[in-house]
Amino acid sequence: MIRYIDEFRQAKAARYIARSIADRMAGINNEVPIRLMEVCGGHTNAIFKFGIRNLLPESIALLSGPGCPVCVTPNRFIDTAIELGRRPDFIITTFGDMIRVPGSRSSLLEERASGSDIRICLSPTEALSIAEDNPGKNTVFLGIGFETTAPSVAVSIIEARERGIAGFSVLSALKTMPEALYALLSSDDLNIDGLICPGHVSSITGTAIYRPIAETFGIPCVVSGFEPPDILSTIDMIVAQIAEGRHDVENQYTRAVRPEGNKRAQDVMRAVFTPCDSRWRGIGTIPGSGLAVSEEYREFDAEFLFSLELPEEREVPGCICGHIMRGAKTPLECPLFSTACTPQDPKGACMVSAEGTCSAYYRYGNR
Ligand code: SF4
Repeated sequence: MIRYIDEFRQAKAARYIARSIADRMAGINNEVPIRLMEVCGGHTNAIFKFGIRNLLPESIALLSGPGCPVCVTPNRFIDTAIELGRRPDFIITTFGDMIRVPGSRSSLLEERASGSDIRICLSPTEALSIAEDNPGKNTVFLGIGFETTAPSVAVSIIEARERGIAGFSVLSALKTMPEALYALLSSDDLNIDGLICPGHVSSITGTAIYRPIAETFGIPCVVSGFEPPDILSTIDMIVAQIAEGRHDVENQYTRAVRPEGNKRAQDVMRAVFTPCDSRWRGIGTIPGSGLAVSEEYREFDAEFLFSLELPEEREVPGCICGHIMRGAKTPLECPLFSTACTPQDPKGACMVSAEGTCSAYYRYGNR
């Protein structure tokens, strides 16, 4: 059994698997490249960081999907957080990347420079501690991300009630992945031939969530780990399915993902959140793809607690993050890429997070 990280990064193993992919592709009579989408931003980052595209035949195209939590969060959510942060006695707590994403007219970073109390947290539990240390203030945690982060946000809400911590609330933009994949795969212009499914999300949900997708769209879905041999093995498994005319759900990441997922995390999520319609940057509103704080926990729901009148949201002119989130365009097609828009001075969400496609293109080049 492979136990250590070095063993997952062996170049020899990567080259061996890459040869297998090339051999399989040679047997597939395809006039256009096979298009595979890596759903997760963590995979996008690894693919660029380790130059995985260089190891693949040109007949395989990799597209980045909607799995960067910061990238899919719409401007409206950032605008809301900014407005709350401008109120006296409000503390906005958030994961680090979120602070740099431009909203319609400002960013949380600019607001902090202007005097708003905005703090970076490594976890929702840290936000809870801030609330505990600041009685009499409203501490709002910005809940973003997918099934991976939702359980820890749910636990913070349960803990807040159990420990009687007043003033803590969550502004939820949490999202669930299957509905977004349905929305993307239903669009006519993408033509995806296989999904590299997200490892972390799947460790919570299990693998069964992909079965209806594989069946409805007739494409292989393989859950993948994050090291180079993991991703290459996943691609090899997808290509094998295509060569054999199959569209099954398979699990490459067996060391972390069980078919049934993490039942405790699922229970805690279900106890605190309820499905709602949710807006995704670039994709629009997807019915049932969000997680709202349930009525049972309403006293921790920032959206319910604080009413807001917001001016209309707007996007930075020229930014094509929306198209990039759908895998419909690459950053090289954006007129602002690496000129007006850089990681130091991002104009859109995809340039901010390490998991963002524009950021990956900028740091590692088009590999
Ligand atoms: S390069 Fe910048 S402006 Fe262009 S799509 Fe990416 S984030 Fe938006």
